[in-house]
Amino acid sequence: MSDIIQLLPDHVANQIAAGEVVQRPASVVKELLENAVDAGATQVNLVVKDAGKSLVQVVDNGLGMSMTDARLAFERHATSKIKSAEDLFDLHTKGFRGEALASIAAVAQVQVKTKTESAEVGTELCIEGSEVKSQTPCVTKKGTSIAVKNLFYNIPARRNFLKSNAVEQRHIIDEFQRVALAHPNIGFSYVHNANELFQLPATKARQRIVGIMGAKTNEKLVPVEEQTDFIHLKGFIAKPEYAKKTRGEQFFFVNNRFIKSSYLHHAVSSAFEGLLRDKSIPSYFLYLDVDPKTVDINIHPTKTEIKFEDEHSIYAILKSAIKHSLGQFQITPALDFNKDSEFDTSYHQHKKPISNPTIEVNRNFNPFESDSKPKSVSNYQHSTSKNTSSWESLYADIQPDEDDNDEDFMHIETEAKNNLFSTENITEQRTCFQMNAKFLVTEYRSKLLVIDQHRAHTRILYEELMKSITMDAAPSQQLLFPLEMEFSSADFQILSEVQEALILVGFGFEKWENNEAVISGIPSHVKESDISNMLDQLIADMQMGIPKNNFEQNDILAKSLARNMAIKSGRLLNTTEQVDLINQLFTCKEPTKTPTNQNIFINFAQSDLENKLL
Ligand code: ADP
Ligand code: MG
Repeated sequence: MSDIIQLLPDHVANQIAAGEVVQRPASVVKELLENAVDAGATQVNLVVKDAGKSLVQVVDNGLGMSMTDARLAFERHATSKIKSAEDLFDLHTKGFRGEALASIAAVAQVQVKTKTESAEVGTELCIEGSEVKSQTPCVTKKGTSIAVKNLFYNIPARRNFLKSNAVEQRHIIDEFQRVALAHPNIGFSYVHNANELFQLPATKARQRIVGIMGAKTNEKLVPVEEQTDFIHLKGFIAKPEYAKKTRGEQFFFVNNRFIKSSYLHHAVSSAFEGLLRDKSIPSYFLYLDVDPKTVDINIHPTKTEIKFEDEHSIYAILKSAIKHSLGQFQITPALDFNKDSEFDTSYHQHKKPISNPTIEVNRNFNPFESDSKPKSVSNYQHSTSKNTSSWESLYADIQPDEDDNDEDFMHIETEAKNNLFSTENITEQRTCFQMNAKFLVTEYRSKLLVIDQHRAHTRILYEELMKSITMDAAPSQQLLFPLEMEFSSADFQILSEVQEALILVGFGFEKWENNEAVISGIPSHVKESDISNMLDQLIADMQMGIPKNNFEQNDILAKSLARNMAIKSGRLLNTTEQVDLINQLFTCKEPTKTPTNQNIFINFAQSDLENKLL
């Protein structure tokens, strides 16, 4: 048999290797920003077009490169940062593999302009798909500008794989924030499609955090500091009452490098134990300085994971330092555990003038209609589409969410088919009762139905919300005092993606810019005090879901809001409310499953019951 092994041509090998380093425009942003930091720049400017799909450019005032170095920099394993294997254990730079520029140049069109302090002229270099197209002297300032155009232009499959601009842009913001937070002493700016998103002058950590997360962050921050023989910890945590349901404001920097560590996250969370509301995640910005010899950052190609020599001590130090700060700033006693959470005002409203109480009048109330009299379906539909009638009372007193929708609560399969429950089949007379303030039990066509009330309501609201988004907008309740809310840029970006849909489901915005929203209208039936939570949850769901297109975006939005707005288990319902809920469920297109595909009810035929009684 003839030999079959051959060496891959360089450009193919480079493209394959590039896959590890360059997954999306945000990877390019990260590598270029880190190189600029490594080059000792004091000012770094990022320019992006079309979420990085057509341009990512980083301009710095660092060391610059000589003519030869500029060319060498694009060779694989060309780095000025390590010379021997030992250097690996004493790294003070972000890069060291010498792979980033070679990888980027393999999958894009790259233009470099660079000049060192001492050189009289600079160098301009153009490379496309690893091939040097030209290198000429040029006039430029000290420092380096690298423009990466048309990423993946030569690998259409990868290019098609990129997500929507909104999603790619979000990843870029994440990377930008991480580098900018890690280096407050360096000035950063970020311009996207000619809009200036960030202008961050060189400063101290606290001001940098505020510069990125928004002016109102300042009052939320509590300093943390601890110095031991082998670790210097400093930074800030946000007071427990500002903890959000969203991940995204958790930052660890080890030797000025952003890292992810669920172990250290656990240390922080455990220091907050007992101080946080259900499922909220504390925000923190923590900078750890350790001897580089005691950490290994080489275990992951994108280098956001880390291994410490003495993890246990770091855990303990972190936990105790944070507990100490929480105590020292007297955050603990301020919390009253016996307080009813219903009385909590969201922090956005603390400084608001107190509004006059309003009385809600049900204009459809008919004193001659008895409470237990079942409504016909048509009546029922009429009343809900107007968003009036007994639905309002369903929202009056929403209990804390005990019923999370992920447990599969019943084992018996539903065999219901949609047509079984078509509108004509709904009996005018319905007998039902509520069990444990969680299930509705009713008889239907000689079958016994047990319906999960939270899930049923989630389905109803989901379909209503989808209808508002795709067909006709829902009515909105105007707020007497508009709610002012501030978001981090990343969160604001996420909400901006769905702003139109939010308007369609009943939100009204007086202002929507500079990471600030002034909310003047909210969907009917939603309580003002729930809005902050609802939007937090929405941001979290959008982060988890990463929608690919408009439809998915709307779907995530409707699912998130429906789950949030739906009555919870633990809520007592009167007979009318029970009947309404059941009737409304069976006018849904998909009455058997929640939008996240969980069973809404189970049914027992007479034979099932007889079998059980054998
Ligand atoms: P690494 O950062 O791992 O060394 P890169 O491929 O990112 O590898 O960069 C290769 C080399 O090019 C760097 O070691 C550095 O010497 C040089 N270089 C890259 N970017 C810049 C920059 N903005 N300013 C000065 N030198 C740079
Ligand atoms: Mg690098």
